[in-house]
Amino acid sequence: MSDAVTPAASPPPPPTSAVVACYFDGKTSRRHQVRLRVDGDAAVIAGDVERSCPLAQLRVSERSVHAVRKVSYPDGAYLEVADRAGFAALLDATGHRDGVVVRLQQSWRGALTAAAATVAVLVLGYLFVLPPAASLLAHALPLAVERRLGDGVLDLLDQHVFAPSALPPARRERLSARFERLLPPYPGTPPHHIVFRKSRVGPNAFSLPSGDIVMTDEMVRLMPDDDALMGVLAHELGHLHERHLTRRIIEGSAVAASATLLLGDVSSVIAALPPLLLDLKYSRDAEREADDYAIAMLRHNGIAPEHLADVFVVLGAGADTLPAYLSSHPASPERIAHIRAAAR
Ligand SMILES: [Zn+2]
Repeated sequence: MSDAVTPAASPPPPPTSAVVACYFDGKTSRRHQVRLRVDGDAAVIAGDVERSCPLAQLRVSERSVHAVRKVSYPDGAYLEVADRAGFAALLDATGHRDGVVVRLQQSWRGALTAAAATVAVLVLGYLFVLPPAASLLAHALPLAVERRLGDGVLDLLDQHVFAPSALPPARRERLSARFERLLPPYPGTPPHHIVFRKSRVGPNAFSLPSGDIVMTDEMVRLMPDDDALMGVLAHELGHLHERHLTRRIIEGSAVAASATLLLGDVSSVIAALPPLLLDLKYSRDAEREADDYAIAMLRHNGIAPEHLADVFVVLGAGADTLPAYLSSHPASPERIAHIRAAAR
């Protein structure tokens, strides 16, 4: 990249002191020793070769730390200037300004600023552009595709984490039937199916893109009453309704793809940061959305939303058990307060 020499504004500057340069005619490799100075609007060389050329017709190579500066004539001839300081003074006298990019590249501070700006753009993209984009994609995704996303996940969990539920079948059926009788708060309820499992990881509940809402025996036993369990199930239906897991999967692949495309393996450390930030923010927003869905659903069916607050109070109080549910569903006082405020 090169940029044009811009002539100085009037009044014309006085002749500058000359700098040593090598002149090449562009046709042979022969080197001519010359001295370059600026006289008015012209660059004048003297020595082995004498030549005068309007500044406006010359191109000056961009400044870099190691390379000599190159000044090109329109006919292909060029000068090489090794005296960088002298040449910089000469350019200053002509009013020449390096392009913004060149000046930024010139300083480490500028380079760091540029890198920080790139990271900032990426982080902002991850935080504010990607989630809505993933949300749009997730909602546009045909259910059949979404089901395939969740296919096999439950099988995998059954092999490694879960055992068949030990709850009495009548108890399971009563819970499922009661939840199915509840009216959803909004139209467009996704197809769903409650699945009970005995867990090695304690009280837990989650929904899969396939529409399976998994509830562990330990969660059923821990909750004080069935209203609280309806709250847990409504919260999971909220995740399904908002397609949170599908969004996470799309975001996960988009993050991986853009990290490879944009940053390469050099900046993999930096690339790992935005998804982390995203996760923190995203899961908090997703939890709030699912809580709000559950609150609306409980109210819609005449169940006090306080029962959903109970879920987190009970989970948070259980010091003897270490509920896995809490790692994905922090029972923060803020969260409990939000549910209770909505209940009023
Ligand atoms: Zn949740």
